[in-house]
Amino acid sequence: MIEKDYWYKNAVWYALDVETFQDSNNDGIGDFRGLVTRMDYLATLGINCIWLLPFYPTPNRDNGYDIMDYYNVDSRLGNLGDFATFIQAAKERGIRVIVDLVINHTSNQHPWFQEARRNKESEYYNYYTWSKEKPADPEYEPAFSGEDDSIWEYDEEAKEYFLHRFYNHQPDLNLANPAVRREIHRIMGFWLSLGVAGFRVDAAHILVQNDDPEQQEEFYDIIEDMREFLAGHSRDAILLAEASGSPEAVGKFFKGKERTHMMFNFLLNQHMFVALATEEAKALQEGLAILPEKHFTSQWLNFLRHHDELNLEDIDPKDQKKVFEAFAPDEDMLIFGRGIRRRLAPMFNGDQKRLELAYSLLFSMPGTPVIQYGAEIGMGDDLSLQGRNSVRTAMQWTPERNGGFSEAAPSKLPRPSIAQGDYSYKRINVIQQQHQKSSLLNFMEHLIRLRRQYLEIGNGEVEVIETENKAVFAHTSKLDCFVLALHNLGKEECSVALPLLQEEHESVLELLSDDVYSMPQKGKVKLNAYGYRWFFIRPKKDTGKAAPKKAEKKKKKQKEK
Ligand code: BGC
Ligand code: CA
Repeated sequence: MIEKDYWYKNAVWYALDVETFQDSNNDGIGDFRGLVTRMDYLATLGINCIWLLPFYPTPNRDNGYDIMDYYNVDSRLGNLGDFATFIQAAKERGIRVIVDLVINHTSNQHPWFQEARRNKESEYYNYYTWSKEKPADPEYEPAFSGEDDSIWEYDEEAKEYFLHRFYNHQPDLNLANPAVRREIHRIMGFWLSLGVAGFRVDAAHILVQNDDPEQQEEFYDIIEDMREFLAGHSRDAILLAEASGSPEAVGKFFKGKERTHMMFNFLLNQHMFVALATEEAKALQEGLAILPEKHFTSQWLNFLRHHDELNLEDIDPKDQKKVFEAFAPDEDMLIFGRGIRRRLAPMFNGDQKRLELAYSLLFSMPGTPVIQYGAEIGMGDDLSLQGRNSVRTAMQWTPERNGGFSEAAPSKLPRPSIAQGDYSYKRINVIQQQHQKSSLLNFMEHLIRLRRQYLEIGNGEVEVIETENKAVFAHTSKLDCFVLALHNLGKEECSVALPLLQEEHESVLELLSDDVYSMPQKGKVKLNAYGYRWFFIRPKKDTGKAAPKKAEKKKKKQKEK
């Protein structure tokens, strides 16, 4: 039962980077004023939560994840006044805004680090972790394998080594220092007072790691303190952890109501891709079954792709290989020895049927869905750009210069718009897809509307239903009523029998499908190749519960209360 409506359990999220969304003054760089002019597009698309990638002052060597000042807006993107205007524009449209909280490290250009390296007496020296001798590197792989071979870097000025678990221009903050923790609360308080609805806690699994070899104890109290601070300063703001790893490791971030409200579902993400690559439901069933338990007030954030690589490090190497073979056959499409630096549309060779299948699947999964800007029109990638920048090109609004993103000369853009080939803005853009009834964009709008209306998906109890066809993934999400979703991952059309549909119900309504089908007869459901169908089932009133026959084996019951 829903005792209270937790907004984040039923929102549809949209991730965007101000820098690449809309330029208002034609200097080639997206900005807050430009973003404000696109708020009605976002509102009518139906999303109601924006995850804003870092927009703080930065030397920009890691897409803004290298911060120089936590209390300001990068001047290329606007100023705090523009930020406040944007928050107001979002509020007026019922859209919440989540910002990135990157506190594992700062940029080496941050004044704290500059002061620390100059002066060991300064209060900022202990904001970082130093060592006179170079400590041994830990067993685990560095975050960006192939980039830096050690997590310790010698600083000429300090004449000591400093810890950096990401790039060597990103010294790690010393989170064991109470002054750093106070600083984190100050940063949170600042942005909360400007109206944000919460924080994406960047690199959360690394944040809690203790790199002191003497002390293996991880510190989750840092997360608990943040949650407590949040609760004292906001009625409904949330913490979203960017935590990856084993079910056991990520499960630690969901602890009653004490740690994070939400967490990126890296596990399900990887299993979803195995299922899409193998065209079999099995991996997805397993992916759901291994998810750690969570409190009713917690929620998964489900995704297919975002601004980073598709990271496949937590799955079996054999499965990893299958995904690489299916979706990244060229060496150049891979990164860090574990991931894919492509957008979803090119992975499916632009096949709209398969894209719809994948998004239908994503939106039916237990949790809250997030899409990356441009996913709704099937934007492509630019593999000629370095590293993960391949998936971070400018939003494609129209077939005009720079895809309508900016009127500046293309050479002024920090990353060029995609101007050639199948994914060029001349072919793939918002304005043309709005006009064309059967476009991916119109499908996505429809899907977003549905997901927001059916609270069963974000709140319900999930049951996977085994069918006789291994390509078909079927599941129900149940509150008082059910949403039943069927996805045919395979290229053969088929028909499956579902005992649930043989039972008598008050009503069975079709909500979504890839085609016009006739209603199921005697429990048999037809599905096209890569077809999908969603039904809304209202159980018979007299009994109050026409429960589905429990699929004896692979039953995944989410224990939430
Ligand atoms: C972000 C990356 C970034 C890294 C280091 C991540 O979790 O998503 O884009 O490179 O943090 O800041
Ligand atoms: Ca601009």
